[in-house]
Amino acid sequence: MQALLTRTAGIAARYLETLEDRSVAPTAAALEGLKELVEPMPGQPMEPAQVLETLDRIGSPATMGMAGRRFFGFVIGGSLPAALAANWLAGACDQCPGLFVASLIATALEEVCLAWLLDVLKLPAQSGGAFVTGATVANFTALAAARHSVLARAGWDVEADGLFGAPPITVAIGDEAHPSLIKALGLLGLGRSRVVRVPVDSQGRLVAARIPALQGPAIVCMQSGNVNTGAFDPEGEICERAHSQGAWVHVDGAFGLWAAVSPAHAHLTEGVAAADSWATDAHKWLNVPYDSGLAFVRDAAALKSAMSLTAAYLPQGEHREPSQYTPELSRRARRVEIWAALKSLGRAGLADLVGATAASPLDLPKNCGKGAARS
Ligand SMILES: *Cc1c(COP(=O)(O)O)cnc(C)c1O
Repeated sequence: MQALLTRTAGIAARYLETLEDRSVAPTAAALEGLKELVEPMPGQPMEPAQVLETLDRIGSPATMGMAGRRFFGFVIGGSLPAALAANWLAGACDQCPGLFVASLIATALEEVCLAWLLDVLKLPAQSGGAFVTGATVANFTALAAARHSVLARAGWDVEADGLFGAPPITVAIGDEAHPSLIKALGLLGLGRSRVVRVPVDSQGRLVAARIPALQGPAIVCMQSGNVNTGAFDPEGEICERAHSQGAWVHVDGAFGLWAAVSPAHAHLTEGVAAADSWATDAHKWLNVPYDSGLAFVRDAAALKSAMSLTAAYLPQGEHREPSQYTPELSRRARRVEIWAALKSLGRAGLADLVGATAASPLDLPKNCGKGAARS
């Protein structure tokens, strides 16, 4: 094991060191090499070292250079050194953090990270949180809590009785909502097409005055950080309008929510704390390895009601059970990399990471991972 892991670390370090000198996109020859992967299921075992050698020989040249500073696609970010190294250590420890009793360290890290994240993102300190795969699932998770809450207020138990016969929920989204938010609404039975699409301005910002009159159970989804323009919806105005009509306000802030950590950009998220739930990514601007998304819900009990296991499946103590807040039971201990990233950056480093990359993608501090969001 020692020899294999040491060798693999060498291969990985060399990959990262040579990223600046290779083409960002794979060459035609590298893609041609992928044909070697197409073979019948092997009948016999292969030595682990040889498996890794084969993977590196065929796979590494065919990668997209996303982990490097010359990759400018999307807003997907890379990995901070501490976060990548923590990911390796966590892989070796192979913790299953769904249950409190199964991994005390994983639970402890989750609680510490949750408090730190709510602090740096300037969200209400008592909010519940879920560590999930990405903003798509974070939107799904937070909106499941929203669905629970608005129907519970109308006297309907959606977890027990489903949506058939339930009071209808009005869902309003900006016309430039991210497609993953619309997918999440579809998964929740709220419909991809039955939502009310509120007009947006020339930057894709939802026009608060155009939110329709809301009656009965209602959810308004806004966006902090439009992936095409970088624009933020008028958060305070939307919250005021929606809340005055009893609606739940959800924020898709996959990359934009991180503006809160940079003094020069924090004004962009000034109004978000008034919302009821938030989704963001850690694998974008925080620069932790894939996959890593976060959902926060002001009413932690609503999140727990939407996500808890109903049957007394395994003993539950007095403690916070991580899996009572997420769609998954068994999963990766994603908070390990989040903890390592936040610990290595500190408040100051985090502000620099977001501030510098938001200001100019060409001024990336060395070692600050990849380009993070080039918004
Ligand atoms: C990236 C992004 C998403 C989807 O996030 P995933 O992590 O890919 O699931 C949702 N909303 C916005 C605004 C995004 O930028």
